[in-house]
Amino acid sequence: LITLALESSCDETSVAVVRNGREVLSNIISSQVDLHKKFGGVVPEVASRKHIENISCVIDEALEEANITFKDVDMIGVTYGPGLVGALLVGLSTAKALAYSLNVPLVGVNHIEGHIYANFIEHKELKPPFICLIVSGGHTHLVHMKDYGVYEVLGKTRDDAAGEAFDKVARALGLGYPGGPLIDNLSKKGNKEAINFPRTYLEDKSLDFSFSGLKSAVLNYLNNNRQKGIEISVEDVAASFQQAVIDVLVDKTITAAKRCSVKKIVLAGGVAANSGLRELLTARCREEGFELKYPSLRLCTDNAAMIGCAAYYDYIKGYRADMYLNAVPNLKLGDK
Ligand code: ATP
Ligand code: MG
Ligand code: FE
Repeated sequence: LITLALESSCDETSVAVVRNGREVLSNIISSQVDLHKKFGGVVPEVASRKHIENISCVIDEALEEANITFKDVDMIGVTYGPGLVGALLVGLSTAKALAYSLNVPLVGVNHIEGHIYANFIEHKELKPPFICLIVSGGHTHLVHMKDYGVYEVLGKTRDDAAGEAFDKVARALGLGYPGGPLIDNLSKKGNKEAINFPRTYLEDKSLDFSFSGLKSAVLNYLNNNRQKGIEISVEDVAASFQQAVIDVLVDKTITAAKRCSVKKIVLAGGVAANSGLRELLTARCREEGFELKYPSLRLCTDNAAMIGCAAYYDYIKGYRADMYLNAVPNLKLGDK
């Protein structure tokens, strides 16, 4: 079964060809990051227009690299939320047109679910149940995935997402966009114990997250030192900030696994690319006897292969969308 998958929820136009859910024949990612850099973040209207310009070429490239034609496509998978509404609509309208004209089924995919499914492409033998920490640009979720498509959300952020915190702190440090990879690199040259930024654990037993206090603490630290004319080590701030994020993410993930008596832990989303997070979680999982899986760097951030994989499992479950499928900018995990 060949799936042609489309992803356009934010600033990546991506199209993939996936065979039987887990075999990626092509995964073309056209990033608009250079276009948005000068604004310090994604500009929704600019993103939508660029998706329109790009999508046909990216589809052609995906088919060509997979060495197939439209006639070989058995189903269309597409992200329909969450994300920027204008951006989503480009992929969604294209997907509907393709499904209608090729007369094949259309399956709408939840983008956050897609991030989790990146792991099924990377690890062919991986199966639920497991605990998944999803850390992306707009979401921070701790989830017990009990079966394909079956989720219990154990905790989530009450304010900023982890990736958002990275991006905002990077902006305050004058590093540019997107901030995550830049802070990750600088951290390697800094002292993570130089500044004791706050770790927010919230109420006893809570598996929710909060990163806005940490972000404010970094901003205050920068302002105070700049006012006093004290020189700031960007590397130390990056390393200390990153460590404060990671400590909480790792502690709560381990707690969740213990609480649910689950032996497997899975990382997903753009921040899963963070080298510090991968290292600390790997070390803690080894100590505590948990098996840890995460996707390769290219599959952590937005891509259509993960959407193709999720679409396949939805299809197997009998899920089909019709031509009334609309973009849902604030779609929740587990909602269909
Ligand atoms: P969402 O998936 O929540 O809708 P999104 O699609 O914009 O949001 P992703 O593409 O999953 O988010 O991830 C992008 C985020 O990941 C950005 O915030 C970016 O800074 C962050 N990121 C990418 N690489 C790293 C890294 N090495 N360390 C930390 N953060 C990173
Ligand atoms: Mg992006
Ligand atoms: Fe994403």
